[in-house]
Amino acid sequence: MKCPICKHGSTHRGNASITLERDGTTLLFKNVPADICDNCGEIYHDEEVARSLLEQADQASARGVELDVRRYAAV
Ligand SMILES: [Zn+2]
Repeated sequence: MKCPICKHGSTHRGNASITLERDGTTLLFKNVPADICDNCGEIYHDEEVARSLLEQADQASARGVELDVRRYAAV
């Protein structure tokens, strides 16, 4: 798709690292499936992926995790 941020690049399917912060919990997810703009580098992920990331961040936060690095796996 055409990138809605810079309006010049187009996005390509790939994997990205995404950092999430939530209530004092920092999570770094690697290998998250995403569409990445070849011009500005903006990362877009599916709603389903975003929901899964937030869910995992909530769980980690509930367990009192402060920092975690993990490979992305759908929940
Ligand atoms: Zn862009």
